[in-house]
Amino acid sequence: MVIGSGSWGSVAAKLVAFNTLNLSSFHDEVKMWVFEETLQSGEKLTDAINRTNENVKYLPGIKLGKNVIADPDLDNAVEDANMLVFVTPHQFIDNICKSLVGKVRSDAEAISLIKGMEVKIEGPCLISTYISEQLGINCSVLMGANLANEIAEEKFSEATVGYRNNREIAEQWVQLFTTPYFMVTPVQDVEGVELCGTLKNVVAIAAGFVDGLDMGNNTKAAIIRFGLREMREFCKLLFSSVKDDTFFESCGVADVITTCFGGRNRKVAEAFARNGGKRSFDELEAEMLQGQKLQGVTTVREVYEVLRHRGLLELFPLFATVHEICSGCLPPSAIVIYSEKKNIFP
Ligand code: NAD
Ligand code: 13P
Repeated sequence: MVIGSGSWGSVAAKLVAFNTLNLSSFHDEVKMWVFEETLQSGEKLTDAINRTNENVKYLPGIKLGKNVIADPDLDNAVEDANMLVFVTPHQFIDNICKSLVGKVRSDAEAISLIKGMEVKIEGPCLISTYISEQLGINCSVLMGANLANEIAEEKFSEATVGYRNNREIAEQWVQLFTTPYFMVTPVQDVEGVELCGTLKNVVAIAAGFVDGLDMGNNTKAAIIRFGLREMREFCKLLFSSVKDDTFFESCGVADVITTCFGGRNRKVAEAFARNGGKRSFDELEAEMLQGQKLQGVTTVREVYEVLRHRGLLELFPLFATVHEICSGCLPPSAIVIYSEKKNIFP
């Protein structure tokens, strides 16, 4: 079953539903939990999805597959499910997990498609770790260069499954998601895969600022390179086990590229910079994304918190500057101020 029904959540349900129909080892039906809302027409979103077989709000025009059943009741949706796909914006995972405690099968396997992290008093916590700890089940991850609208139209793309130590489980997830237009590769580096997916949203915000300032492609390429370098340093700071090769998978450099050119974080950050930082991200998000959610602004605040707590902000000038711009302490133009003193950019 799929927990979440935004744009990527709906595409995830479509991919899985294609495979459950075609593979005898899975039940045909795919339940998709919907955070219920009432549409302008007065109809409930869940009813509209089940009537039209489309997520009319978050992925209009795309048939999900007749075996996708939308359900607004989370307890009901997870009952008996032994494979749980988590795909909600990361700011909601805390409440979702808390309401699921004691309700999922003890032998269930989970996978997180969520790009973000939890920062608790004890320090940063991966979403997959959080799900595992809260629900007492194993959790893998699936990340990659995966703009939902393009995969919805069945344009070819790749993804990476990150797993801890059970290769068989990873292969099951690969089977469940792979389609002729979606190529999935397993990698035994759950921390590296998940943190790449999380941190690239921060780089995409920086890329959006550069676009909003009309700085051109060379500057954007430089920002992407600095961003990738800080992503690698941050990953290794948190988990020394993270592998260099992971950055060359779809979850790494490919996701940075696609998000810095075609993602929502980039798009809203561009508008933020064009407005000189005078309109907030919340306001722009509500106006430009119609209910879809950005992950980068919250993530960079969380990253900043971790770095500040450890006294390491100076070593991550791009991440620090992105947060200071997002929070209004610096103007968007600060993204490209060259610092002679540190010999770094920004
Ligand atoms: P989305 O941004 O398209 O939609 C927002 C979703 O949040 C909607 O389903 C909405 O119903 C739900 N929501 C709103 N308030 C809520 C609440 N209080 N509690 C629970 N849910 C609530 O969502 P998405 O794009 O499917 O994003 C889910 C995750 O997938 C994110 O971490 C995102 O980074 C990641 N992701 C997205 C894409 C993409 O292209 N959209 C691609 C890869 C990964
Ligand atoms: P945005 O949330 O910036 O659209 O990024 C989507 C994504 O994660 C592509 O892989």
